[in-house]
Amino acid sequence: MAKKVIITGVPGVGKTTVVNEALKKLKEEGVEYQMVNFGTVMFEVAKSDGTVQDRDQMRTLDRTVQKRLQQLAGQAIAQISGNVLVDTHASVKTPKGYLAGLPEWVLREIMPDIIILVETDDDQILMRRLSDETRTRDKEGSRSIGEHQQFNRSIAAAYAMVTGCTIRIVANPDHLLEHAASEMADVLR
Ligand code: AMP
Ligand code: MG
Repeated sequence: MAKKVIITGVPGVGKTTVVNEALKKLKEEGVEYQMVNFGTVMFEVAKSDGTVQDRDQMRTLDRTVQKRLQQLAGQAIAQISGNVLVDTHASVKTPKGYLAGLPEWVLREIMPDIIILVETDDDQILMRRLSDETRTRDKEGSRSIGEHQQFNRSIAAAYAMVTGCTIRIVANPDHLLEHAASEMADVLR
């Protein structure tokens, strides 16, 4: 049976890195996943509309605009068959508050089997954001990062209620990438 897996985690936690490592391991065993970045799908639409120039501007758009882009991305991703791995966010921190990354109408399109939450210590995330010059990461303290991680666990429970999916927490602490990738590969196998 094809598996639909959603990977989430606050910006800078390293979810894309862990996923890529896990997929390398699985490929050696002949297990393939199509990897989709939800933000990239949204950005393709937003760019062609002329709505934004940079992917990090999307979370500051009007909520109705973000929801429209999100719905289009959800529909596009739902069309993909086979094993799918979606790299996204349980919630997006916007200037007006947390926006559900997977509201009901998106969840019902994708119907994930598993949602993975990648987490680590708040201060490690803070340091990772400070050293990442490729992105415009939110400037926030570790307390606020902690609140976001906590909120993501809460909203993930609601996602499990809608879909019957399992929720798996994978820790990605400093210097233990290999361990996190093995754990994720186990979940994806
Ligand atoms: P990322 O590269 O994963 O940080 O995603 C880039 C941007 O895409 C995020 O800052 C959000 O604006 C947007 N995005 C990604 N996933 C979602 C989602 N599920 N719902 C709403 N916006 C999203
Ligand atoms: Mg990423």
